[in-house]
Amino acid sequence: EPVPPDEPARRLQAQGVQLVQLVYADVLGVHKGLTLPVLQAAAAWGDGVRVDGASLEGFMRIEEREMRLRAGGEAVFVLPWTPADERVAAVPAAIYTREGQPFEGCPRERLRRAVGRLDGLGVAVEFAFEMEFYLLRRHRGRPEVRVPDRAGYLDLSVRDAGEPVRQAVALALERMGVVVESVHHAVAPAQHEIDLGWQPPLTAADHLLVAKRTVYAVAERHGMHATFLPKPRTGSHGSGLHVRMRLRPLPGAPWSRAALTRHWLAGLLQHARPLCAITNPLVNSYKRLVPGFEAPVYVVWGQETHAPLARLVAGWEAGELEWRAPDPCCHPYLALAVLLRAGADGLERRLEPPPPLEENVFELDPAEIGARGIEPLPGSLGEALDDMRVSAVVRDALGEYLFTRYLEAKRMEWDIYRVQVHQWELDQYLPVF
Ligand code: GLU
Ligand code: MG
Repeated sequence: EPVPPDEPARRLQAQGVQLVQLVYADVLGVHKGLTLPVLQAAAAWGDGVRVDGASLEGFMRIEEREMRLRAGGEAVFVLPWTPADERVAAVPAAIYTREGQPFEGCPRERLRRAVGRLDGLGVAVEFAFEMEFYLLRRHRGRPEVRVPDRAGYLDLSVRDAGEPVRQAVALALERMGVVVESVHHAVAPAQHEIDLGWQPPLTAADHLLVAKRTVYAVAERHGMHATFLPKPRTGSHGSGLHVRMRLRPLPGAPWSRAALTRHWLAGLLQHARPLCAITNPLVNSYKRLVPGFEAPVYVVWGQETHAPLARLVAGWEAGELEWRAPDPCCHPYLALAVLLRAGADGLERRLEPPPPLEENVFELDPAEIGARGIEPLPGSLGEALDDMRVSAVVRDALGEYLFTRYLEAKRMEWDIYRVQVHQWELDQYLPVF
């Protein structure tokens, strides 16, 4: 018996949608989804769709066998590149238990809880992302690391092989209701940037999920390979996901916007190292956080753009911060959940930020950096995980369930990497030692 279509499903049907895809990112940030014919799609807004719990966790098995996927909210994104007679709408999903309770290990649920805490504190936060990625050509079906263009920052070049993809992604996102501020060629050859508009946290995370999916799909249709890998090429700029935050006290809140922004920044800086375990989740992420490529390396903030970790965009009163460590391989929901939790901690404890560093930190000598007590960001995934393990703030944001499993999976990833002998070592050492 088909479930009678309820309101959202009926609306989608009227829009010519044939398939509804419940989409989410698993613990490791890998995109997952389940497709329903639109006539069955009412279940997505009702009891949810049964799934095997083991499939929700990347390659980790869990005890819970049956879980349910349900629409996370109202948001639907009709994917404009799908053919009219097989039109797909993507619906960001949340994970529920068999009994219909929000699952504590659901990343979207973690973000919802972090937002709930903000209401209690009298703060509203909006996010905007600057998302970077590379567009590569394929050779015999495999992505080629050799870049297909020589263009640079803001270049408009007829030889920029990625331009048609970049423009098509912007149009597709606009058609889906994902506001795009602008798109442009980024600093490195074959590197591109899309800046998304301001959104409240859950919508921002939904949009980031959908935007990444769109970049992959549109690139594919142009015969190119899109990658969000933080450092795809040795010696070239890495791809970041700068996260802009706009803070506003709610009516009746006990702080001015300026005080709120100061405490918030102090909280982020205080937890900067453990945050990286979530916002910079790959072994490869730490090859981006090195000097020379405009990526942050030290826990410093300023108003200027000398690649600090945090930037106060327009004075305390404006309430806008840019957090530059994250990369686009982070889990959208978990990254925002830990950032919110760290900022809220600064506010709850009325932390004050250290003085800004307006010089270029890369021009200070190491002794000076040490003397001023400037901390480096983690140098590897292993270091970040060591800091995360003892972080009460990250533990609280993720909840016991995800905290434990994330650490376990990432520790395994790091250990597997750590024992590999790399080509560089062979090239460098084998002839000599
Ligand atoms: N690609 C740089 C990064 O890794 C950012 C470049 C920029 O600020 O435009 O964060
Ligand atoms: Mg930026």
